[in-house]
Amino acid sequence: MTKGEQERDESPAAEAARLRALIGEYDYAYYALDDPGVPDAEYDRLFRRLAAIETMHPELVTATSPTQRVGAEPVGEFREISHVQPMLSLDNAFDEDELAAFDRRVSERLVAAGISTDVIEYVAEPKLDGAAVSLRYAQGKLEFAATRGDGTTGEDVTHNVRTIAAVPLELHGRDVPPVLEVRGEVYMPRDGFDEFNRLAVERGEKTLVNPRNAAAGSLRQLDPEMTARRPLAIFFYGIGETQGWELPQSHAEVLEALRGFGFRVSPDWQLVSGVAGCLAYYAQVGQRRDRLPYDIDGVVYKVNRRDWQTELGAVSRAPRWAIAHKFPAQEEMTTVKAIEFQVGRTGALTPVARLSSVFVGGVTVSNATLHNIGELHRKDVRAGDTVIVRRAGDVIPEVVKVIEERRPAGASIVELPDRCPVCDSEVVRPEGEAVARCVAGLICAAQRKQALRHFASRHAMDIEGLGEKLIEQLVDAGLIETPADLYALTLDELTGLERMGEKSAENLLDALQRRKSTTFDRFLFALGIREVGEATAASLATCFADLDALRDADEEQLLEVPDVGPVVAERVLAFFKEPHNRTVIDKLLESGIHWPEPAPIRAVESPLSGKTVVLTGALATMSRDEAKAELEARGARVTGSVSKKTDIVVTGESPGSKLARAQDLGIAVMTEDEFVRQLEPGSA
Ligand code: NAD
Repeated sequence: MTKGEQERDESPAAEAARLRALIGEYDYAYYALDDPGVPDAEYDRLFRRLAAIETMHPELVTATSPTQRVGAEPVGEFREISHVQPMLSLDNAFDEDELAAFDRRVSERLVAAGISTDVIEYVAEPKLDGAAVSLRYAQGKLEFAATRGDGTTGEDVTHNVRTIAAVPLELHGRDVPPVLEVRGEVYMPRDGFDEFNRLAVERGEKTLVNPRNAAAGSLRQLDPEMTARRPLAIFFYGIGETQGWELPQSHAEVLEALRGFGFRVSPDWQLVSGVAGCLAYYAQVGQRRDRLPYDIDGVVYKVNRRDWQTELGAVSRAPRWAIAHKFPAQEEMTTVKAIEFQVGRTGALTPVARLSSVFVGGVTVSNATLHNIGELHRKDVRAGDTVIVRRAGDVIPEVVKVIEERRPAGASIVELPDRCPVCDSEVVRPEGEAVARCVAGLICAAQRKQALRHFASRHAMDIEGLGEKLIEQLVDAGLIETPADLYALTLDELTGLERMGEKSAENLLDALQRRKSTTFDRFLFALGIREVGEATAASLATCFADLDALRDADEEQLLEVPDVGPVVAERVLAFFKEPHNRTVIDKLLESGIHWPEPAPIRAVESPLSGKTVVLTGALATMSRDEAKAELEARGARVTGSVSKKTDIVVTGESPGSKLARAQDLGIAVMTEDEFVRQLEPGSA
């Protein structure tokens, strides 16, 4: 039983008291320490349970119950600021029924107040997952910025908010109100968050749990220089106290006006009608969720008419005229059954947590990666632990952190095995390296299987029908050891395998035969040279006329290839020096694998030809893949990270650390508009 579940024979009063205490503990960790103790999904379950008990037994409601207040009190490190108009939280709807009930309540209240409503118009907005702030402008100048705190008293974070580039220090336009308080959400874009954590790991510093807590924590830094180094951004979505401003009649007009004053307002808000309109918006934003450069945890619907908002009013914790419609949680809680080490293609040992199945991010998850032994030790995950698991978009599920107070007695630290769990060879972890490896190379069945899987995969030799299971069977039956053996397989050998019919066997032989005709870069990628991904394989294939030239290249020649640094050069040299690899390559070529001569360089005239370009931030007019294709069609190369070899960095929204690096290195930076203009015909 988890701490949140009802204890047997517990009275409603006892359960409510226990839940209040537990929620209080979690609130402290979340709001004061910016380090949540449990995933939001678990917190929300406890909160709803408490709210349900209080609805059934109103006499149990206490003034300090978390259902009656917002957030937590400020902790005293900052000057306190009172909000003239409270900063409230939002009620949640987790499904369509709850949304419909909200819409019904709104209508009924308005009707009871003598207002006749038909379908209610709402403004729908993305619900950004960050930290709420209130900014006060007096005579058009930023006076102070405060956190939400407990809703009535927040903390003075002016020094930190000032460091956010999108915060206007002075308002635009001539007709600015003498006093204007605006409310918005400070957030940390995802790539900035990832980069921040990468650097923190490198420096052995504490990593941040998720972008939301990272934003809240950054805002509450004592040293504004620290905040300035964190990539924060902001969207504004409402107002607090105003003086001397004839307020617009609708929320939509408020948003327009805010934009006019120079505030950054999400471009994704929409006017929608009734529940159906809300649901259509929810579906549309939900589909884009994973592609947005920042986290959102739902959408918010707000009654558009401001006079109706006033009529509806608020309860202690939230307005009655708005509701947050949450997306499925991307973080959940589960237990670790075991930690195992998987051996990859290059012998790298990856610790994997085997989990009690849990529904998170829209799928059932039962394994989560722990990346490498360093990460495993940093997070100190042990068998038996209760952990927070995160699965966002198509990213592999990962263990975010251990809930330490739930660790069972006797759970022991997981050590790196000395021997490979597959072939029992030695495992080494060179000084200073994050990754431990089995040294056996292709003698290790795991590495052999992975190498073969890679060879056959879609972006490599693309051999249809040669999946993981079949490779397992072929290696275990001793029929293949290296990719070259694939081409010597016979129909008899294949049909001799369990569950392999004649038709499938023929299809496989056919696919092998067909895909002998390939391209130089695919072949290079298929070889599985360490550090040589698709992009590097493509560069090598462009720079070397043929395989012989590449095989005999020395370090200097390799370093001339864009995208190839000393590490990659060393891997390539080592790969081709290894006699075993040379033999396998010869055999592959003997079996008839071939590719066309390189096509002459395309004669598209463009100032982008020959340039090495990095894309960063979200582009508004096209996807990353489209931008990459456009660039490549003009003879440019697109790489993932900014280095001295980069010629141009194209920046979309929330560009993050790559932009900073480009500026440090003095590399040309292009906005999306400038980039799009370069793509127009005749722009040469
Ligand atoms: P909330 O985040 O569910 O919703 C209210 C907030 O949404 C507002 O204050 C504002 O900051 C934000 N917001 C984002 N976009 C907005 C928009 N367009 N318009 C208006 N507001 C917008 O509520 P909360 O009170 O900030 O926090 C409560 C939630 O925090 C809980 O539901 C829980 O998920 C989480 N929490 C978790 C823990 C934990 O231990 N994991 C502890 C405490 C709270």
